[in-house]
Amino acid sequence: MLCTAKEILNDAREKRYAVPGFNCIADVMIRGILDRAESLRSPVFLMLYPGELDDKTWWYYPAIVRAVADRYTIPIVMHLDHANDLDVIRAALDNGFTSVMYDGSSLSFDQNIEMTRRTVEIAKSYGASVEAELGLVGGVDFSAREKGNIPNILTQPDEVVTFVERTGVDLLAVSIGTAHGTYPQLPKLDIPLLKELNAACSVPLVLHGGSGTPDDQMRSAIENGICKFNVYTDIRIAMWNRFRKIAVELKENDPVPNGYFAQLREAIGDVVEAKTTLAGANGRV
Ligand SMILES: [Zn+2]
Repeated sequence: MLCTAKEILNDAREKRYAVPGFNCIADVMIRGILDRAESLRSPVFLMLYPGELDDKTWWYYPAIVRAVADRYTIPIVMHLDHANDLDVIRAALDNGFTSVMYDGSSLSFDQNIEMTRRTVEIAKSYGASVEAELGLVGGVDFSAREKGNIPNILTQPDEVVTFVERTGVDLLAVSIGTAHGTYPQLPKLDIPLLKELNAACSVPLVLHGGSGTPDDQMRSAIENGICKFNVYTDIRIAMWNRFRKIAVELKENDPVPNGYFAQLREAIGDVVEAKTTLAGANGRV
């Protein structure tokens, strides 16, 4: 069933586990993620990245998710990731998204507050949750590769209280050392900073850049307050590896490999299972 982020993350915060969020764009990904999350009895975020919107995304994506959500018994959050355009946010909410992220990380503190506050105001009338970002999680922006690697700006604990109070946001993404995309060298998360942020923050914390971050550091982040983490690159890598395996195994006399999509769903599902287990979210439904 569809639900909001707020509904599932308060339980996660109280019991110190996290719920993974997976970016996905195609129906094979939606099914790969939901099938495995259902078998693991785990809540899950299905996330859509606005950089991947095209002129028919609103026809397909929310329609598929809404049509299948009630067939699953687990809570499913249909979440818009990294939006910075209020028209896109409105379009998502009009199409049944139950959670949206306003990413004001490139704005000044006051502008970030103002735009996040406006997003919260809009989302309220839909009963949807809002995630914001304070500080900046850098790395690779998939939609703008020419920018290269964007450096992190760590979240400042003294800004958190003011930000949450003035915006009324439901969940807050923080920057503690992870990055988007793949890592040129392994990250080192600032766990003492995370502890301070969690103590200061009245709403659940979110970690972007979950792909490629070593498991022991992820575990430590979850123990110290991360309630949702985002994964995309790891799923893309798993799909690409499976595509290549299928291509290699393709026999000339069988040009249409049987079970091709089932294999892709399985590869996606294996990433979902690894991340869900790491999050401690399995068996929570
Ligand atoms: Zn992100």
